[in-house]
Amino acid sequence: MNFELSEEHQAFADSVARFAQDKLAPGALERAHAKHYPWETAQLLAEQGLLGIAFPEEDGGQGGTLMHAVLAIQQIALACPKSADIVQAGNFGPIRTFVEYATPEQKARFLPDLLAGKKLISLGMSEPDAGSAATELKTSAVEDGDSYVINGSKVFSTHSPEAELFLVYVRFGPGVGGIGSVLVEKGTPGFVVGTPSGFMNGEQWSQLYFENCRIPKANLLLGPGGFKKQISGFNVERLGNSARALALGRYAFNQAREHALIRKQFGRELCEFQGLQWKFAEMWMKLEQAQLLLYKAALEGEHGLPSAQSTAMAKLACNLAGWEASNEAMQVMGGMGFSQEALVEYCVRRTRGWMIAGGSIEMLKNRIAEGVFGRTFSQRPAKA
Ligand SMILES: Cc1cc2nc3c(=O)[nH]c(=O)nc-3n(C[C@H](O)[C@H](O)[C@H](O)COP(=O)(O)OP(=O)(O)OC[C@H]3O[C@@H](n4cnc5c(N)ncnc54)[C@H](O)[C@@H]3O)c2cc1C
Repeated sequence: MNFELSEEHQAFADSVARFAQDKLAPGALERAHAKHYPWETAQLLAEQGLLGIAFPEEDGGQGGTLMHAVLAIQQIALACPKSADIVQAGNFGPIRTFVEYATPEQKARFLPDLLAGKKLISLGMSEPDAGSAATELKTSAVEDGDSYVINGSKVFSTHSPEAELFLVYVRFGPGVGGIGSVLVEKGTPGFVVGTPSGFMNGEQWSQLYFENCRIPKANLLLGPGGFKKQISGFNVERLGNSARALALGRYAFNQAREHALIRKQFGRELCEFQGLQWKFAEMWMKLEQAQLLLYKAALEGEHGLPSAQSTAMAKLACNLAGWEASNEAMQVMGGMGFSQEALVEYCVRRTRGWMIAGGSIEMLKNRIAEGVFGRTFSQRPAKA
């Protein structure tokens, strides 16, 4: 057992860190507060080979591994938290499921722009009545000649106001076995992207409406029975969420540490007060614990997909550590931590959202408990 990164992983992380400090750190505050997606930065990251890191080269990716993608997201987030969203969008989100299951024709149509940082794909899974209970989704796809006709609605999709392409979970028939997914392009008749609403973290989301929206059969991603495959892709997505949560916690921790070394009250530096030293000791320990679980899950992904158990454990630990470190860092920095002059309050808002998105911390604990007892626990009421 070795707790150090391999030489190759360390060299990769160092080179991403140098690029991020040089090109991204200077505009980090403005980028975090900008209303719109940072398209220019996305294209810069694409040119740097930081989109599609773990995708096969024949798909336009870099042929790296999940561990490389995790390292990249961390190093980018440590310099510019907002830019890590771009690395997420180009490596872990719905794009990952797309690359896993799309046909060569679909890849040729959509991947070049997505991997060039010129377009975004958004995931339409959650519905007004199907959140944690994702399999209760109602959005339907009915076969009609050469098309599917889609009806229903989706909520909370990340990047929905800006995306050109949507990976939409749909129901072809009853039960879990009736669920699959389709690709819907913005501008398709019968598909409306609603007026954007704001999340507490500053991101915007639009409700998606499908009313007799007709899409060609060529836009089928996974037919009936596809749900389990989609969820495997979703497990990988969890590592991107985990890496960002942890890295934003570290970002806030680093800011607070610098502050505590310099800021004086009562004639002493803040770092000399034991009440604050103990906060730093706990923050650091929690960040390091979560880091090990994240690397363990990412390394499992070097040889296939990481297990649901490992990704759930990594996400839970990273979500909690990232949020707690950000929140404590804000406390240590007093009014400056709470002010939008520093990015610590941004880290608090962002890490809080990831405790709900991509599998809430409660649903993760349900998953981990199944591993503890070696059996599944239905969350539904017993049938009469
Ligand atoms: C920042 C952000 C980004 C998101 N991005 C996307 C996206 O890109 N695409 C998309 O489709 N969706 C997205 N979502 C939606 C997200 O997946 C859902 O919010 C999440 O699944 C929870 O569903 P819900 O909000 O309906 O809450 P509910 O399911 O109503 O849950 C409410 C509370 O009850 C708890 N709970 C529910 N069931 C159980 C149970 N069995 N045991 C214990 N506790 C339980 C939950 O943990 C939660 O605390 C995003 C959400 C956020 C906050």
